[in-house]
Amino acid sequence: MDLLDAPTLLLVNAVFNGFAAAGWALLAGVFRMAPRASWLMVGAHLFRILQTTDAGLTAGWSSLAVVAFEQSCALAAVCLLALALRRMLRLGRGRRHIALITGAGFLGIVLLFALQQRAGIPLVAAVAITLLALGGARDVISGAGPGLARWITMLLVLPYLVLAGLGIVRLAMPAQGGAVSAGVSAGVGALWLLLTMAISVSLMALLVWRLVGRVEHLTLRDPMTDTLNRRAIADEVQLLQARRERGHDFALVLLDIDHFKRINDELGHAAGDAALLHVVRIVRGCLREADRLGRLGGEEFCALLPYTTTEAAAQVAERIRATLQAQPLVWRGQRVELTASFGVAGGRANDPAGEVSLARADEQVYRAKGEGRNRVCVAPAEAFG
Ligand code: GH3
Ligand code: MG
Ligand code: MG
Repeated sequence: MDLLDAPTLLLVNAVFNGFAAAGWALLAGVFRMAPRASWLMVGAHLFRILQTTDAGLTAGWSSLAVVAFEQSCALAAVCLLALALRRMLRLGRGRRHIALITGAGFLGIVLLFALQQRAGIPLVAAVAITLLALGGARDVISGAGPGLARWITMLLVLPYLVLAGLGIVRLAMPAQGGAVSAGVSAGVGALWLLLTMAISVSLMALLVWRLVGRVEHLTLRDPMTDTLNRRAIADEVQLLQARRERGHDFALVLLDIDHFKRINDELGHAAGDAALLHVVRIVRGCLREADRLGRLGGEEFCALLPYTTTEAAAQVAERIRATLQAQPLVWRGQRVELTASFGVAGGRANDPAGEVSLARADEQVYRAKGEGRNRVCVAPAEAFG
């Protein structure tokens, strides 16, 4: 088959890997996108080119040296792919197994080279590559998480499984002096090329997915406190309101830190910022996982409590108030007493954007301020709603 003609394959391989290396280098060097993972991918593609230089670089070498060189390059390429994948998925620790497998693989190749055991070299490399590929498949499954649709995760896993399968087939094949028949090796070469393409493209897809997640995060979060911003709060309230129409309660707890300006004035803006983070930490500690916390602006926050009655929300607010009072901020060794005023309101029917509920909770914050601060005020239950 012409497509599997070895020289053409080598050329296609070199061209594809060259372009891919250049693409990743562009991402890393110019656009600074996932630079470490991208540089690792540059290395992986360069090793793939070296692996298949064939007569070029290795002309005049003994066939033992050529096999050892090719298999070392293949192993290095897969090792860098595995490392890039872990970086891309932000799987920080656990790179030791990659180093161990690769190290053992190289050691095996060097030993067999020294012992002139040519047939064993591809087998040792195949064992190491199979283990690395299986590790890669596991990393995709554990790193993709629930944010990625299952079928996409399976699609991303596929090339690693095929790569592992290729290694297993190689091990199962009777060794023919380390080489396989020309037809099979061309087929295997084509498969390798396809796999490299698939893995590179899937890593690019992961990069895009990561960027989209980051952009989404930036557009919906308050950068300082990492709580929801106004826009995200509005979206969440709308969602809760839609559930309210189907009969599921929700409640809002608004809080405004008392005399916050004084902290800024007396201790400086940095102390004010630390106070905001302190309050957020305490409020988060009093909320359930399903609850959401947002920053309405300045020193005003809003907790959204799904499936919660106004009475239960008032208890949550009281717990936050008491905890805040009991745990002052310690700023540069100095205790800074912090309190807040709370307004609680339940979601009402016929309020699609939740504006009425928010306004009712806000009214209660003002009432709490008027009544002396450091207290919880609850919007009265209504006859309809
Ligand atoms: P009250 O008890 O009536 O709520 O008084 P207050 O001082 O808390 O309220 P006021 O609205 O007078 O002041 C809020 C201050 O919050 C004013 C503003 O400079 C400060 N502020 C807003 N955003 C930030 C921020 O991100 N960091 C810091 N350090 N201060 C902020
Ligand atoms: Mg305020
Ligand atoms: Mg205030």
